[in-house]
Amino acid sequence: MKYYILFGPPGAGKGTQAGAISAKYNLKHISTGELLRAEIAAGTELGKQAKDLIEAGKLVPDSVVEGMIESTFNNNKNVAGFLLDGFPRTLGQAADLDEMLARRGEKVNAVISIMIKDETIKNRLQHRAQIEGRADDANEETIKNRIVTYHNQTEPLITYYKNAGKYHEVDGECGDIEDVRKEMFRVFKGIDRKFLERVPGASGST
Ligand code: AMP
Repeated sequence: MKYYILFGPPGAGKGTQAGAISAKYNLKHISTGELLRAEIAAGTELGKQAKDLIEAGKLVPDSVVEGMIESTFNNNKNVAGFLLDGFPRTLGQAADLDEMLARRGEKVNAVISIMIKDETIKNRLQHRAQIEGRADDANEETIKNRIVTYHNQTEPLITYYKNAGKYHEVDGECGDIEDVRKEMFRVFKGIDRKFLERVPGASGST
């Protein structure tokens, strides 16, 4: 089983790019943000606890997202691997993920990061608020908090994965969505060529 992490600040385009990659390589796409929004929509206890934190631009506790991640791993046996989107977001989550995978005899294979500037984060989240109506995109204060949260708690993961020799970066502003997608596929193919060439269709054009 392969474990890939799609990394980047809010609004980098992780969710947009994840679909094409997971479909092409038979990976299960796990977005912790989407899972949390589903819990909120369903009115579960977990959703109620997460709602205020998400709308304040803060992170939910590590144990909450780690529980969701582990049960998704357990419930998806017939995939070639997983594409984690929005997880891990703290050094604690990264260390716990390493432990979780070690218990399964597995490891993180690679991290693909989509990088954009703070100014672009702000513009994209404001634009997305008008299209998707996400409460945490609409409010200027929340956006500011999410950018601060990203720099303080999530950005240190870049060094963590660089030190592990697993970090690969794509410029999320190299062109339009299609240009970024092509760049992602190019990087992806360079990472794990042997595995990806065995996946049906993986050697075809992007
Ligand atoms: P996203 O859709 O990835 O932008 O996530 C939306 C919000 O969900 C984030 O701003 C956090 O409040 C929460 N969230 C998503 N993933 C995580 C995570 N791995 N750890 C903590 N909070 C998370």
